[in-house]
Amino acid sequence: MRFSLLRTLGYFAGGLWTAWGGRKRIEAKQIRNLRRLVEKARRGSPLFRRLYADLGPSSEVELRELPVTRKPDLMREFDDWLTIRSLPLDRAREHLRDIRKVGVPIDDVAVLQTSGTSGEPAVIVLTSSFLEYSYGISMARLDRHQWRLVREIRKVGVRVTITGGNGHFAGVGFNKLVKHLHPRLARGLGLTFIEAEQPIGRLVERLNAIPKVAWIVTYPSMLTILVKEKEAGRLQIEPLHFSTGGETLTDDLRERVRRAFPSLKYGILDPYACTECLVLSFECSRGRKHVNEDWVILEAVDEAMRPVPDGTLSATVLLTVLANDVQPFIRYDLGDCVRFYKDSCPCGSPFRSFQVEGRQATLVRVGEVTLSPLVFDLEHEHARRIQLVQNSERDFEVRIEPADEAAVGVVFQEVIQSVKRVFRDNGLEDVTVRESKAPPEFTASGKFHEVLPIRSTDPRT
Ligand SMILES: [Zn+2]
Repeated sequence: MRFSLLRTLGYFAGGLWTAWGGRKRIEAKQIRNLRRLVEKARRGSPLFRRLYADLGPSSEVELRELPVTRKPDLMREFDDWLTIRSLPLDRAREHLRDIRKVGVPIDDVAVLQTSGTSGEPAVIVLTSSFLEYSYGISMARLDRHQWRLVREIRKVGVRVTITGGNGHFAGVGFNKLVKHLHPRLARGLGLTFIEAEQPIGRLVERLNAIPKVAWIVTYPSMLTILVKEKEAGRLQIEPLHFSTGGETLTDDLRERVRRAFPSLKYGILDPYACTECLVLSFECSRGRKHVNEDWVILEAVDEAMRPVPDGTLSATVLLTVLANDVQPFIRYDLGDCVRFYKDSCPCGSPFRSFQVEGRQATLVRVGEVTLSPLVFDLEHEHARRIQLVQNSERDFEVRIEPADEAAVGVVFQEVIQSVKRVFRDNGLEDVTVRESKAPPEFTASGKFHEVLPIRSTDPRT
């Protein structure tokens, strides 16, 4: 596996050229890329050859003719899915079990795993061209303000990624892969990695020990923790910029981050992405997310997989990754809800813009009632972290990592009361909420969910 700066520049220049040509050039590029991918999938992947057996010639294929694909089906037929025959699932899983091999390629590809918060973890195969696409297109989509950010951050300090370190997950895996393939580039970007799973006290110490933290890449749940530590005066860093992903970033949290970190000259960027496609969209200076439509197709659809009109919240979203021709993701059901804007963005970008509504896996269901995790107030001045865990439909427990051991009793009492009040306000009287001695737990990829619902039984995930 080799990373070519020249080919990265090719994606960069191509990305600029496509954007300058407006909608017409974007759509032409997208359909060319789609037909090329369909042809490659048909030639190289026995699974797609079967799926597409009744289609006409690839050079005339339209997106809507292609069947929807889902993670469990694709994973079940992994060995027939890829367009290369040298990486059966057993070999990929063996590699993923070895923590020393995070970010180490297998032959011409690299493998990552999803966190599996919504079911069995998927194995994601990355190619050199996908990496080159990721850097090239990300650069092509920066506006003037964001270019200044990149230049300034390179001058003043390092970029720290805080995500799960106990597996081949996107955050740590991608960083290590770039270090492995292009150490000079990794040094230039100042890539530093910190494990999210360690106790907060140690994490804060590590951050405080870095001479100049300029940019932090992490999950919104970790950002919430950093805000608390900063407000309490324990965290001393003064970053210029945050970027987040993997979870929903609320306006409320944005506001709190801005207040807690006055040093934040370049605000927070929150592009929508997933392990299946690490560079899927970009966020412009007006705060909207735009799809990289020349290389990615995102379709907002209803339950029957029919397109929903712009302005309507979708039931799920279908992803097509045109830059990965080794592991084809074509009309792949991601399970998130999105809403495309009806109007074009004031930033002037020709790429369509959209909003993402909460990830389905985090909603709490009790009987007929569905609650957003945001309705629970799981903060307390004497606790560093509080977690609400749903053990069965009507049985919940509260877990606490205290800031002050002496106050544990009070924290439990007040938090349990407030959680019960939320249930009562929603017409749920017969729900149990108990104290738990267990510490709050992380997802496998190091996300911290304040609310852990019982595992989703949604067949899609
Ligand atoms: Zn915009």
